[in-house]
Amino acid sequence: MLNVSNLESGYGKLQVLKKISMHIKPGEIVTIIGANGAGKTTLLNTISGLIKSTSGEIVFNDQNIGNLPAEKIVKLGCSLVPEGRQIFDTLTVKENLMIGAYSLNRNKKIINDELNKIFELFPILHERENQLGGTLSGGEQQMLAIGRALMAKPKLIMLDEPSMGLAPLIIKNIFDIIKELKNQGNTILLVEQNAKAALGIADRGYVLETGQIVLEDTSKELLNNDDVQKAYLGKDYKK
Ligand code: ATP
Repeated sequence: MLNVSNLESGYGKLQVLKKISMHIKPGEIVTIIGANGAGKTTLLNTISGLIKSTSGEIVFNDQNIGNLPAEKIVKLGCSLVPEGRQIFDTLTVKENLMIGAYSLNRNKKIINDELNKIFELFPILHERENQLGGTLSGGEQQMLAIGRALMAKPKLIMLDEPSMGLAPLIIKNIFDIIKELKNQGNTILLVEQNAKAALGIADRGYVLETGQIVLEDTSKELLNNDDVQKAYLGKDYKK
């Protein structure tokens, strides 16, 4: 579904991503793990078209999307749940969700069907549909950010650090939802500092260090890898 080859990007003179090659097959959860500043967000933002690549290719469903603007990439079915959720605080829950549907060509029936599916997946958002986004808890805002991305009926959902700033019980809840999204047939690219949780639900993973992929394998193998355990899973990690 997604094929990235030799991708490079950065900020002005700062080159962050160096010859990144990775792929995702339909129905997979693939995770990118890495320390602070490794380039995880830069990678998702480059695939999303928010940052322009300086070289390399991004092919999504056989189409080169490397030079397309972000809104076209969303229309093709590639949606981002951004780091820090980026909810519109002064809009209601429902308004936030409707913004995610801008690519559905104002088709009321399709939009209502999507809204109902999201309210089924997140009953708490249904209860709070008229509440302002900024008044939700962190976990609820994360659900809203995921729901907003789902409103575009994406083929690939990219999640940037969904566990950031959340309590352990809420993190479990969010990861259960990501598993449920996979069970419903979605394809997911998950960027996480919480390597244990991410590898716990992903099929495969890539380890990103200072802008380069240094390791790729199945999640099972990565969880068993001594270097991954030492660097990302904590010294007390038991297989
Ligand atoms: P984190 O988990 O802390 O978000 P990350 O792996 O997502 O880390 P990035 O946010 O992609 O890493 O950052 C990669 C590098 O790019 C870092 O050195 C960071 O300082 C730099 N960087 C990120 N955003 C910008 C920006 N807007 N302008 C300049 N440099 C940036």
